[in-house]
Amino acid sequence: MENNIIVKELLKDYEKKHQKALTDLENRKQALYSKCPELLEIENRLHTLGISTAKFILGNNNSTHLTNLKNEIEKLKIERANLLKKLNIDENYLKPTYECNICNDTGYTYRELSNCYVFLFKTKTIRY
Ligand SMILES: [Zn+2]
Repeated sequence: MENNIIVKELLKDYEKKHQKALTDLENRKQALYSKCPELLEIENRLHTLGISTAKFILGNNNSTHLTNLKNEIEKLKIERANLLKKLNIDENYLKPTYECNICNDTGYTYRELSNCYVFLFKTKTIRY
């Protein structure tokens, strides 16, 4: 197989792996939220506050208001952590599970091809 075809296939595999990790996470979240709607509420509020914070930083520099926003976000994160603890769920449950934690299944680290990618590429191109 030609090298550039291998490159394309590998990157497609990475894309699939990365997407699968995100889909799995979404499914886990939905299952969790239907069990504990309070968590969904917190998640939605965090999302809204995140947007407000971003807009605020761009818009002006009233630091008191920004501190309030950040405090609110911290409070919600603690609330979420407590809820998860009560449900006996690890916080990693709400993070994507990648096969490779270095490149998060993208094949890249800091804009360079990741080690796992280079390894996979070699296993496909070295002939014995
Ligand atoms: Zn990797």
